[in-house]
Amino acid sequence: MKRDFTDISGRTFDLIVIGGGIIGANIARDAAMRGLKTLLLEKDDFAAGTTSRSTRLIHGGFRYLQHFEFGLVREDLREREILLKIAPHLVHPLPFLIPITTPIDHFVMAMGTLLYDILSYDKSVPGRKHYSRETTMKMEPNLKVEGLRGAHLYYDCQIWFAERLCLENIISAVDNNAVALNHAKVIGILKEGNNVRGVKVQDILTGKEIEVSSRVVVNAAGHWMDSVCGMMYGQPKRMVRRTKGVHLLTPRLSNNSLVLYAKSDGRLWFVIPWGKYSLLGTTDTDYTKDLETVYAEKEDVDYIMQEAQRAFPQLKKEDIFYTFAGLRSLPDSGNEKPSNVSRAHKTIDHEKTDGVKGFVSVLGGKITGGRGIAEEITNLVCKKLDFKAACKTATTPFPGAAVVAQPEIIRSALESRIDVENVTYLVSLYGSRFTEVLEMAEKGSRGKQPLCHHTRDIVAQIWYAVAEESAITISDFILRRSGLGLVECQGLDAVEIVGKEMGRLLEWSPEEQQRQVTEYRNTVGFTQKYKMG
Ligand SMILES: Cc1cc2nc3c(=O)[nH]c(=O)nc-3n(C[C@H](O)[C@H](O)[C@H](O)COP(=O)(O)OP(=O)(O)OC[C@H]3O[C@@H](n4cnc5c(N)ncnc54)[C@H](O)[C@@H]3O)c2cc1C
Repeated sequence: MKRDFTDISGRTFDLIVIGGGIIGANIARDAAMRGLKTLLLEKDDFAAGTTSRSTRLIHGGFRYLQHFEFGLVREDLREREILLKIAPHLVHPLPFLIPITTPIDHFVMAMGTLLYDILSYDKSVPGRKHYSRETTMKMEPNLKVEGLRGAHLYYDCQIWFAERLCLENIISAVDNNAVALNHAKVIGILKEGNNVRGVKVQDILTGKEIEVSSRVVVNAAGHWMDSVCGMMYGQPKRMVRRTKGVHLLTPRLSNNSLVLYAKSDGRLWFVIPWGKYSLLGTTDTDYTKDLETVYAEKEDVDYIMQEAQRAFPQLKKEDIFYTFAGLRSLPDSGNEKPSNVSRAHKTIDHEKTDGVKGFVSVLGGKITGGRGIAEEITNLVCKKLDFKAACKTATTPFPGAAVVAQPEIIRSALESRIDVENVTYLVSLYGSRFTEVLEMAEKGSRGKQPLCHHTRDIVAQIWYAVAEESAITISDFILRRSGLGLVECQGLDAVEIVGKEMGRLLEWSPEEQQRQVTEYRNTVGFTQKYKMG
């Protein structure tokens, strides 16, 4: 997959998708697989928006049971099962423990986990369990809960690298003849009377602007949805309520995921095992500031730390490696408490709401439900185009989806003279496409060179990301193609070498290389801003 901006000049598409987050990427995949001529445009990088800021769960949403959103929970539990089948290299079962302190909690959580089990009646993950106080303490020796009486356990799933699920949607779309461009910002919607006929797009790398025609445009711009609608209406239209959710990365605290309830406001929050780390979060507060630089502030971190220290008294603020923050896009439903607003997505057919033909917006939607939402949107697009083709995404595995057995990993390790652990790591990132990275590694003497002692990423991944995965900036590679950006140094230990390798391949001047390195350091700086108060 090579980024070629000139490829779209003068072409007419059936569908243009604005936004390369998980929702837009799923729509592009679905539409392309049905045979629609599809173009996806992303102003930054694929998954650079909220998709890279989530709790990384593929889940029905145990929490939503308390709001009686049984339909939404069931739908996402069905999607969880589909993702386990079509993306087994990226989605894995994860046990969740709910510590119990009172008989009422015991009853409520027993009912909750039972209901969750019933709603996931067709699941392949294990069912619920209950543990005594002693067993719970053995399972989680670091956990301190006053008055602990035991714990309930249920299963959900983890997508350890959601950015790569987004990317695999894009790769799959491109394999089915779609064009997908990152760093391509939609700056205008083209209209003839009340008919949308395409978009004006700017190549962020060169500043060049071109017009592209399309019969339908889908606005999957996440929390930028209002600004894209504003381009069409000529004035801003407020439909989205944004709430901020913050996570902290700390050393590993627990063996299982923990579902805890905040003492300060009763909200549910998680401690999630994530490799050798724990992910703690999240918050849910209204957000009206700059959409481009969303970061955790002191009060966000204080809220999570206060709760975390109740459960893990040994945890110190200095233990935090970094933070990240994302924005939820919720329907603008007035003054309801943010955590009470429904997480169900909303499809807006602008022909029905305002008489504007050929324009559809999608508001909200979880990573978990992205495929199903895309099916719904693509059905609507097909209807508008009078095009008949069935959705195939639920049964078609992703490009890297085949399960790689241990003997194949060992054979590949021997043949490529790379540690088994390193090959296993590459499989966890690329699935069955790890062989392509190993082939790339043979193309130069530095190919197998490690990039950072915190991860098992190697130089060949840079070459592969530039050649095959549209990586154009240092951030694209470190944060969304490799595992470098997710570990405690956030890729800073490798930024110079990544800059050098990418600079060579992309023919950067020394100034551009330095600018890229500085820009990456600045991006990472936002994850530490909470220290400034
Ligand atoms: C704190 C938090 C925790 C979450 N946890 C989970 C979880 O555990 N599991 C789960 O399933 N979901 C979770 N979610 C929800 C999920 O992350 C989001 O709903 C989902 O990622 C939204 O995807 P999206 O594609 O709509 O938006 P985004 O990922 O934000 O994508 C929109 C894209 O549109 C692009 N764009 C905007 N304007 C333009 C333009 N003019 N031209 C071109 N491109 C444009 C942006 O750059 C962006 O990349 C969580 C969300 C938050 C905030």
